[in-house]
Amino acid sequence: QEVVHRISSGQVILELRSAVKELLENSLDAGATSIEINLKEYGKECFKVVDNGYGISPENFQVVALKHHTSKISIFSDLHCLTTFGFRGEALNSLCMLGDLTVETRTKNEALGTHLVFDHSGFLTNEKKIARQVGTTVIVEKLFSTLPVRCKEFTRNIRREFGKLISLLNAYALIAKGVRLLCTNTTGKNTKSVVLKTSGSSSLKDNIINVFGLNTFQSLDSLNFSLSEDCKVEGFLSKPQNGSGRTTAYKHYFFVNGRPVDMPKVSKLVNELFRSSSSKQFPIVILNFTIPATSYDVNVTPDKRKIFYSDEGALMLSLRAEIEKIYLSRGF
Ligand code: ADP
Ligand code: MG
Repeated sequence: QEVVHRISSGQVILELRSAVKELLENSLDAGATSIEINLKEYGKECFKVVDNGYGISPENFQVVALKHHTSKISIFSDLHCLTTFGFRGEALNSLCMLGDLTVETRTKNEALGTHLVFDHSGFLTNEKKIARQVGTTVIVEKLFSTLPVRCKEFTRNIRREFGKLISLLNAYALIAKGVRLLCTNTTGKNTKSVVLKTSGSSSLKDNIINVFGLNTFQSLDSLNFSLSEDCKVEGFLSKPQNGSGRTTAYKHYFFVNGRPVDMPKVSKLVNELFRSSSSKQFPIVILNFTIPATSYDVNVTPDKRKIFYSDEGALMLSLRAEIEKIYLSRGF
């Protein structure tokens, strides 16, 4: 039975990116305004997420890493209007199953912090007082060490896993408003490099400048329209270019109500329009869709990256029309 559980944990957390995503979202759910992500050897050896959020209160120490423990749902109908990222109580438990989990935390009601060690089933095995600011640090060592085959593959593909993690962190850096993010990676004896650093500004524009630089920002057009009273789209996309423009890396970032998601159909549409109106390159697209929580479902896949939206057809049509309008106004 334990093995079955381990395998299903592996489905919630398939890669380094999804592991860090869960921790990052927990920090955001806890109201953090500063989040630091430190990796050792690209996350292979260890990664930790340090936040200045509410912290975890002592009455929850025993249960936080048990399966289906969550502090985020009180009544079932909550599921239809989620405002927090997490809600399944699976992330910490899955991480226990997959590696060595340590948590350090302190709420504003405690004078000291607490260091907590969990076993592979999520049971608390050790607890001691430490000095700590209010907030939470979650440390994961040896991710996938409990799944030897996955572990081997993880180690072999660590650079690719790291690359995917960076684009995920970029996505949060673009969308998180008023949250400072810092990500570092330490390799070899003690070589620490800064992977990402943002200043916690409060507009998408500033965040784009932070993450991709002013030049990139200036190469974008803004896109802003409403589908209906409670459904709007705002964001940026590459200006149409004549043949000789710079090549741009493939950067597509989509958000639904501030949650990073994959939108393959939108990606395809934008690429098509861009390429038929200008050069052979791919555009940069950053779009945030604000839609009522009742009209879509994020529970389609365990990593919550795919969504099902009931009005997708209308959305695609409007998006196409809006982009064509921009291109026309620019003479393309
Ligand atoms: P979920 O996020 O779905 O509730 P998790 O397994 O991710 O489940 O986390 C379990 C619980 O641990 C959360 O509901 C929350 O109470 C607590 N927790 C986890 N990370 C943090 C954090 N960074 N700050 C405060 N509380 C946290
Ligand atoms: Mg969570």
